[in-house]
Amino acid sequence: MKAITLYMVLPMLALWSSTGAAERDARGTTRGEPLPPWREGELDIHHIHTGRGEAQLMVLPDGTSVLIDMSGKTSEQAPFLLPTRPDASRPPGEWVARYVRRVLPAGAVKLDYALISHFHGDHMGTIVPDSPRSPNGYQLSGITQVAESVGIAKVIDRGWPRYDYPAPIRNPTMDNYRRFLDWQIRHRGMRVEAFEPGRNDQIALVHGSGRYPGFEIRNLYANGRVWTGEGTATRSLFPPLEGIPPEDQPGENKLSIALRVRYGAFDYYTGGDLSAVDEEVTFEPHAWKNVEPPVAQAAGPVDAMKANHHGSWDANSIPFLAALRPRVIVVPARADGHPAVNTYRRMTSQKVWPGERDVFITHVSDATAKTTYRVDKAASVQGHVVIRVERGGARYRVFVLDDADEAMRVKAVHGPYESN
Ligand SMILES: [Zn+2]
Repeated sequence: MKAITLYMVLPMLALWSSTGAAERDARGTTRGEPLPPWREGELDIHHIHTGRGEAQLMVLPDGTSVLIDMSGKTSEQAPFLLPTRPDASRPPGEWVARYVRRVLPAGAVKLDYALISHFHGDHMGTIVPDSPRSPNGYQLSGITQVAESVGIAKVIDRGWPRYDYPAPIRNPTMDNYRRFLDWQIRHRGMRVEAFEPGRNDQIALVHGSGRYPGFEIRNLYANGRVWTGEGTATRSLFPPLEGIPPEDQPGENKLSIALRVRYGAFDYYTGGDLSAVDEEVTFEPHAWKNVEPPVAQAAGPVDAMKANHHGSWDANSIPFLAALRPRVIVVPARADGHPAVNTYRRMTSQKVWPGERDVFITHVSDATAKTTYRVDKAASVQGHVVIRVERGGARYRVFVLDDADEAMRVKAVHGPYESN
């Protein structure tokens, strides 16, 4: 009798553990299976890992799509870079475009919005002499490469239309980008706008806004201007820049676009390569360059955030993190030292803010693993990171996807987390 009981129970136990509760989320996602497609009412935030910069794709509750940055550093640049994922057979912009095509809601013909957080190659695509050429008179990398296969309805950046703040921006990547915009405006009807801090209607639900009154994207910051928290008013963090010598002008990173995505109780922060002070390299304490704390104050506490500046040593300062108090942090790595030892310590310290938190890193290199203390304790050290917020925003999960190929296989599911 006893033997019969065991015979009956053991297979059930085996079945239970292989598809057990710990490995499934509420929709029955099992490790090793592809990420279930987005559904109407959900908010998905994909942190796409190519090893070559940042690319975040958001699918909003009504299906509106927003791509923030299009990684595009190519392999010949600089030491300390990570390997291209899935592999080096395609440039990063092409990998991003293919990812976008897989994830866009059924029937979507183009991206509704593409944002460039700031004008660096790892966020917009570096142009080098041998970058492939489009027949339309510009070269292909990052955003221009994505647009080859996925149409873009509207581009929003920090510089349109003059690209002269704080000084004219001229280099092959920017010259190429402007030729691209000109051609797309004339031949594809693309619209281009300057990001306006303070607004909460510039990036909107374009397919069904009335259905989701609890959804909002608030423009927090760009070009030294931060939202005051009242209406759409902003204030400048910078003094008048005339007369300030070129070496003391704010660098490109500190001009990055930052925004907050709100869905019911859920809040998410993203802010390009914003950073804290940099007197460690200049010996020149310009307090006004410490843009992180006022931006975090404008955002208020959030549930989840993308780390600033790939988790570099000069970003994600104590006052910044203490104001955001995230439960989930995503670090989009693109080099050794992402995240840096001091930055990771700030992110994980109970003294900076109390409570649990999970840090998801898209790639931890061998060098980073050796130098960033306890980084092996991170929630994830390899793969795309997808935050999926349930309809209404009360709860969310974090999926880690295998980036070795394009199968979108789920490596791990974390949560559900309660939004606060
Ligand atoms: Zn960057």
